[in-house]
Amino acid sequence: MKYELNRDSSGEILRLIIQKMAAHPASFTPWSYAVWFEHLTGINPALSEAMKRLLDSGEKLSDGAIEEFYAKYVSECNLDIHKLLRQDIHEMLTRLAGFAMETDRRAEGYGDNLQSFEKKLKQNLDMSSLDGLIGEMLTDTESMRGSMLNLKQELEQSRQEVEKLHRELESAKGEAMVDPMTGILNRRGFEKAVSHILKQEDLAGKEISLLMVDIDHFKAINDNFGHLVGDKVIRAVADMLKSKVRGQDFVARLGGEEFAVLLPDTPAQGGFSVAEHIRKGIESGRIRTIDSNKPLGAVTVSIGVATLDQGDFTEMMDRADKALYASKTSGRNKTTIHSS
Ligand code: GH3
Ligand code: MG
Ligand code: MG
Repeated sequence: MKYELNRDSSGEILRLIIQKMAAHPASFTPWSYAVWFEHLTGINPALSEAMKRLLDSGEKLSDGAIEEFYAKYVSECNLDIHKLLRQDIHEMLTRLAGFAMETDRRAEGYGDNLQSFEKKLKQNLDMSSLDGLIGEMLTDTESMRGSMLNLKQELEQSRQEVEKLHRELESAKGEAMVDPMTGILNRRGFEKAVSHILKQEDLAGKEISLLMVDIDHFKAINDNFGHLVGDKVIRAVADMLKSKVRGQDFVARLGGEEFAVLLPDTPAQGGFSVAEHIRKGIESGRIRTIDSNKPLGAVTVSIGVATLDQGDFTEMMDRADKALYASKTSGRNKTTIHSS
């Protein structure tokens, strides 16, 4: 069990939370309560650190901030994964709604035809007209049956997809796709994002960019300031990456001090400017040590950019890696686009 407070102490927290919540514009939702609860009881240090940063800045908690904190720190399911699942569900519902509307339209037409058959039957029809009428009714009924069958198949397929989504959500909850240190996608989550992007039908007309980002001389940061500061730098870089991309993009920590940024619908030049934005942001970010005031000096990153060619993702990663290597060997704190 995640929460281990007895009735009395949780009652005190309850009163405190109500006071705190009242001072902010966010709605009084269970999510807001969970965020305040985990923050005030101190059981969720990463959340508390983020809350403290926001509150110290004098900002007020909005519904958006609550949603973000909840998804990132409380639900153990990060925002990118929410985004992927939401897209999957949205696509499925849109397809189903289209089918249902089409079936509805056909059923209406079928109803109209039946009425007109009935009217015709009331007239005095000779045998051959009656025969023709029955033939028409049969064809109509057969086509209606076909539509219903299609809908049934479509519903069955959707049911299977919902089950699959459910399983994915379960594994997402297990944090299998999220890097616990930074809250961004891990390698597995990144692969899931990639396969999601690649299976989109309208991929043909789109340009996709990939950035490989690696912190420069990171070993020296660890050696001079210790691993805890090293970890803090990794988190700060992850935060910077997230703050420089748009909603449709994906940011992941592939391992150690290496990150990937996937930019759907972005040509090479666009990818280069995002990369430069990130690089300059980190260079001027003045990430400092917490315990002492000893400045770290500028933390910098090297970046490699590549674009997707003929749907071959592995090859794009390879080219982005080569470009990253070129940035490293030509002096670091640089962005290189892979030129083929
Ligand atoms: P370069 O500029 O060529 O990238 O040099 P570098 O020192 O950044 O690269 P190198 O691959 O030599 O060292 C990476 C270091 O990152 C070594 C490893 O101990 C450290 N590291 C990997 N994962 C973590 C982590 O989670 N936390 C911390 N603090 N250090 C880590
Ligand atoms: Mg490095
Ligand atoms: Mg490295």
